[in-house]
Amino acid sequence: MSEMKNAPAAGAERGSEPLHEGFAVGAVAAPTRTSRTRPEWSDLVLYRPPQSPVTINLSDNTSRFGVPPSALAVLREDALAPELARYPDAYAAPLKAALAAYVGVGVDAIATGCGSDDILDSSFRAFARPGERLAYLAPTFPMAAYFARMNGIESYSVPLAADGTFDPDALLARDPQLVYLCSPNNPTGAALDPGAIERVIARARGVVVLDEAYAEFAGTSRALEAPARPGLLVARTLSKAFALAGLRVGYAIAAPELITQIELSRGPFKVGALAERAATAAVTHDVAWVREKAALAVAQRERLADGLRALGLAPLPSAANFVCVAVPGAMRVAAAMRERSVAVRPFAALPGYGDVLRITASPEDEQQRMLAALKEALACA
Ligand SMILES: *Cc1c(COP(=O)(O)O)cnc(C)c1O
Repeated sequence: MSEMKNAPAAGAERGSEPLHEGFAVGAVAAPTRTSRTRPEWSDLVLYRPPQSPVTINLSDNTSRFGVPPSALAVLREDALAPELARYPDAYAAPLKAALAAYVGVGVDAIATGCGSDDILDSSFRAFARPGERLAYLAPTFPMAAYFARMNGIESYSVPLAADGTFDPDALLARDPQLVYLCSPNNPTGAALDPGAIERVIARARGVVVLDEAYAEFAGTSRALEAPARPGLLVARTLSKAFALAGLRVGYAIAAPELITQIELSRGPFKVGALAERAATAAVTHDVAWVREKAALAVAQRERLADGLRALGLAPLPSAANFVCVAVPGAMRVAAAMRERSVAVRPFAALPGYGDVLRITASPEDEQQRMLAALKEALACA
């Protein structure tokens, strides 16, 4: 069952389906239904995360440890100005070459996109027909079910345990054409059980999309095996460990025959010229810098978990740069924290998990101020 299918309009009571905060909080009124709009979309609302400014934003898992210096240097140059009137490279060949070297695969095993969201959308459309099925673990990144729905693909989920274990045979039980797995998983943080992932890849009849948005923090990846395994597509992004979410650059690692299909589905010119230049610089020159920052984030994640335990909470195990923790009344608690100028991401009534907060690991001063705001919010919310 699709998570998004039952997403209510603003103000409506939500049912038992997990709902990404941005689709519920501060959403616009229900879209008007006219003879020109698709009636089956009448329950959808635009993604509107809360926008009131905060001093400390730990709500979106982008790295809080700075932006790669060579990306900044490219954006500060004005040598690019004459290029702005021209189209960029159709499929971002220079960026693909830099990403291939970073990951350690051939350039024909890489496709780029406008964020990894674009990779998910393009690959779902490329590898499943309308009416076919996507299977995923719940709770997970809500955009997977959203892009399935936008491409006419049915979806259903099976539960994911907090330790990253799941039943691979139950996941495949309805013969899905597509499988979406996210490891480490957003929003719970767990790395998925490697044996269960392997069984899914070995037994799935179609394409398994493995979202590794947080791979740099986990230190493990299946990207190197993807080019030789036509049933596996690894999706990665520069938005999280590279702290370049504003550039909108994501990429896929897969067998060359899949890459061509993704690029057909995606279309040309999806990465802007400036984004391509800045991303290429970061991936070429700042890999060691990013690895150092990712290690800092991982150390801070453990201190964050300790700080949450000191407040009497029970953080879940995480292999990413964030921690998920059960907090009854998470929506209210997050709102009270926002009044104290600290943003974290609340989720209401996740099946099997209840109300949770997802909090990005960050430098110690920010973390201390977040914990102080959380302590006050827990006392008053
Ligand atoms: C943040 C995130 C993405 C989206 O990344 P973009 O490249 O910014 O589109 C994809 N998957 C997961 C699991 C994420 O957490």
